[in-house]
Amino acid sequence: MSFPFLTPDTVTLPIRGSEDIFPVNHIYCVGRNYREHAREMGADEKKPPFFFSKPNWAISPSGENVAYPPNTNDLQHEVELVLAVGPEQEIYGFAVGVDLTRRDLQAQAKKDGKPWFQGKCFPGAAPVSEIVPIGDGTDLSDLRLELSVNGELRQTGFCGDMIWSPVEIVGQLKNEISLKAGDLIFSGTPSGVGTLKRGDSIVSSIPGMVEFAFSIV
Ligand code: MN
Repeated sequence: MSFPFLTPDTVTLPIRGSEDIFPVNHIYCVGRNYREHAREMGADEKKPPFFFSKPNWAISPSGENVAYPPNTNDLQHEVELVLAVGPEQEIYGFAVGVDLTRRDLQAQAKKDGKPWFQGKCFPGAAPVSEIVPIGDGTDLSDLRLELSVNGELRQTGFCGDMIWSPVEIVGQLKNEISLKAGDLIFSGTPSGVGTLKRGDSIVSSIPGMVEFAFSIV
C-alpha cells in the first residue's frame, strides 16, 4: 500500500548549538496570560487564560521576512515566550516568537461569537527564533521579553508575570490533549501590542538569551 500523495515537508526551526533541526508539529497558543495585556484589550483580567491554535505552516523562521497579510488594515505584534516540547511531553527548549494577529478580523470574530481563525492564521503569522535547548537550572520565569519596531521599544515584560507559568501551561494542556514531540506553545503576550505597517523592522528578543529580526514586506 502506498500514499496517493504526500503531505507537505516537515516545518523546521534551527536548534542553538546543534546541527540538528527542530521539527515543528502543532502550535498551541495561550490567550490573556498577562493581566496588563488583558486590561489593554478591555477583557476581564480575573478570567483564566485559555488556548487557541495556529497551523505549523504559519511559522516564519529567523531570517525570513513576512508578507503583509491580506484582508486586514490592522496587523499587530504580540511578543511571546515560545515553549518547545520534546518526546516525553517535556519542555525541551524555548524561543522568542511573535503572535502576529489581524486584530480587526479578531475583533469582528469576538463580536460575532466566532472562532479567532482568520485573526490568527495566515502565512507568516508565527515568526519564531531558533530553539534554545533548556539547560539545567534554566528558570523560565526569570526571562524578559522585548519587542521593538524601527528601533523603538514597544513591548517589554517579565515571564514571571504570567498568570499560568510554563509548567502550569503544559499541565493545563495535558488535561485536554496529549502533547506531541515538536509541539510549540506560544505562552501569551505582555502589554504594549500595536500596529505594524509594510516596511517596519521588528526585533524581538529575550535579552541575553536569544534575538531575531524580520521585516514586514
Ligand atoms: Mn498571543
